[in-house]
Amino acid sequence: MKNKPSLKNGHRYAQETKLIWGEAYTPKWDYSHHVIPPISSSSTFRLDSSQRGARGFVEFAHHAEDFRVHTKEPIYIYDRLGEPNKDLLEENLAMAEGSECAVTFASGMGAVSALCGILLGSGSEIVAHRTLYGCTYSLFKNWMPRYRVKVTWVDFTDLKALADAISPQTRLLYFETPVNPTLELIDLGAVAEIARSHNRHRKPENMIHTAVDNTFATPFCQRPIEAGIDFVVESLTKGLCGFGTDVGGVVAGPSWSYDRLLMYRKDFGGILSPKAAWPILVYGLPSLAVRFRQQMQNAQVVAEALERDDRVHSVRFPGLDNFPQRSLAHVQMRDYDGRFAPGTMVYFTVVGTTAAERHAHAKAVVDFIAEHSYSMTLAVSLGSIRTLIEHPGSMTHSSIPPERQLEGGMDPGGIRLSVGLENPDDIIHDLREALEHAGISKQKRGNEQSRKPRKAVRRGRPALS
Ligand SMILES: *Cc1c(COP(=O)(O)O)cnc(C)c1O
Repeated sequence: MKNKPSLKNGHRYAQETKLIWGEAYTPKWDYSHHVIPPISSSSTFRLDSSQRGARGFVEFAHHAEDFRVHTKEPIYIYDRLGEPNKDLLEENLAMAEGSECAVTFASGMGAVSALCGILLGSGSEIVAHRTLYGCTYSLFKNWMPRYRVKVTWVDFTDLKALADAISPQTRLLYFETPVNPTLELIDLGAVAEIARSHNRHRKPENMIHTAVDNTFATPFCQRPIEAGIDFVVESLTKGLCGFGTDVGGVVAGPSWSYDRLLMYRKDFGGILSPKAAWPILVYGLPSLAVRFRQQMQNAQVVAEALERDDRVHSVRFPGLDNFPQRSLAHVQMRDYDGRFAPGTMVYFTVVGTTAAERHAHAKAVVDFIAEHSYSMTLAVSLGSIRTLIEHPGSMTHSSIPPERQLEGGMDPGGIRLSVGLENPDDIIHDLREALEHAGISKQKRGNEQSRKPRKAVRRGRPALS
């Protein structure tokens, strides 16, 4: 049987092309006449002999000395150990992130907890950025102490404070960039350098590892491993799936972690179902570039329109000229061709003189949208081709106490918008209608971040006010 021509034929194919065709020839896919890999649906695998079965068990999670993940023909034994759909997806995710390996899990949180599981033990410490996705915050706050893992919270934009928070027991520096939901950025290269400088004096077993949750940006907009970060964790449920149909997660990292991650997944059991791996492999990754290019453009138009609205106090979107960390955004948020890639997420706050008033205004906006809007809906999750809006303070980040939310840059009037593929004029129309009906008077707080002078309204784009 002749195999599909291999990727290694001399030409340098673009990453975008590779997201569609993957490794082309891989021993993990032995269906040489399918253009699309079939959905694997076999919980157990036929073994030719007890000898092959025994070899499969011996070889499982023993790549350490012989790391040939990409060339080695696996012996499939049982779905929880490995099967073709997940393995194919993992090859492509590693390629997308530029990592040596990738291991999938049942959800993004499954990936975050697995990474903690392989790096931490009783007595070790995490230094985490003060604002994190609500469930990650809850994992660190409510569960880690039960395993005698201490978590120190610092502001990672303050590099001195970060360096000072590291103790001899620190094993993990953990953060998101852009931060969910505030879209604050953290300097990937600078955090990697802090870990590197500490590690010069540490024994291998005491090393500090760095990990970034890359869910907001996806590898299309940002590749933290290229910036020197050790691990990427990511929800596959969001931008990587893209259509809102499946839940999954991934840890991408160095080859030494591969066996540990496989063992952890085998024993803790949080595997990604092949039926969930398949749509991400066949639809999600191959369409990532085209979806994100358009969604980013839409997000830019929507963010600019929000910026012009009097009922909106501030707008955070890395593509805006007055984004507070504009130069850092331009350094680290880049697509595969090096073009600026500000992502698809917008965070804005509505006006109001008191915290309670802003909170009420934000809830009124999202409630109006829930009841009346056609082009978007009130829902958590993000990165989908459908525009989703939510109020993080009372929803995704409600596990963080209100005073800590404020400290971390979350305003009670903050609204998170995940911009999809709809016509942006429709999104703007529906947002404007919601702002109009939320009973927000056109006052301004005017005390915080100064607003940029109003730009001339772009032709063909409706202004919001
Ligand atoms: C959604 C999300 C997660 C968790 O992913 P699940 O697939 O829902 O478990 C983790 N981090 C961020 C930033 C997220 O948005």
